Amino acid sequence: CGIVGYVGEKSAQDVVIEGLRRLEYRGYDSAGIALVHEGSILSDKKAGKLANLEKDLAEHPLEASTTGIGHTRWATHGAPTDRNAHPHLGQHDRVAVIHNGIIENFAALRGELEDAGVEMRSDTDTEVVSHLLEAEVEAGADLTVAMQRVCQRLAGAFTLVAVDAADPARVVAARRNSPLVVGLGEGENFLGSDVAAFIEHTREALELGQDQVVTITREGVEVTGFDGSPAEGKHYHVDWDLSA
Ligand code: GLU
Repeated sequence: CGIVGYVGEKSAQDVVIEGLRRLEYRGYDSAGIALVHEGSILSDKKAGKLANLEKDLAEHPLEASTTGIGHTRWATHGAPTDRNAHPHLGQHDRVAVIHNGIIENFAALRGELEDAGVEMRSDTDTEVVSHLLEAEVEAGADLTVAMQRVCQRLAGAFTLVAVDAADPARVVAARRNSPLVVGLGEGENFLGSDVAAFIEHTREALELGQDQVVTITREGVEVTGFDGSPAEGKHYHVDWDLSA
């Protein structure tokens, strides 16, 4: 439902939680976060209000990180439980992914993964994406190429955002029939399901087109099609009144 991604110099946890709070108006049943720290994914997720997640984070703090993603879920596949909350991780906890929308061909992909010995850890349609992405990066693709390849196999509506524990400098996202906006900062960049996710940090935004993949690093933003061809988002300035 709500999506936030961040790479920069600030505490990714703070930026992500604050972004999720700004997106709360959309409604949700669970919330979760993943950070990249020294080659590992650190993750926490809780059913219920964002306050539940924040309480858990206060009791079990995650290491500091400047790369992270966060999600508020509106369950479509699988009950609203801690286990079904996003992010979902690959088998080896290397890739973490959050998702808005529905992967319509998830059952076929799930069957294929289970036949290959993958053990599912949730009842969501989303989880297949984490395993497919992880298989690609483990085979040597970078996360951007992995996302392009995996998206070509997906049917349905999705905004996806992923991080790779082995590549802390980038956050990669993709969209089809579901919104995704990039917030353009200085030495930092943002992703959101809408601009509310990052409005406190920047008002320069890039709206992604249909079937596009975007990679954000501290220094820049790169957009491609699912086929890897260079593409461009639509740049605009957000002039909302924040006091409202
Ligand atoms: N279909 C996914 C799920 O049920 C994502 C739902 C959402 O958009 O929040 O977990």
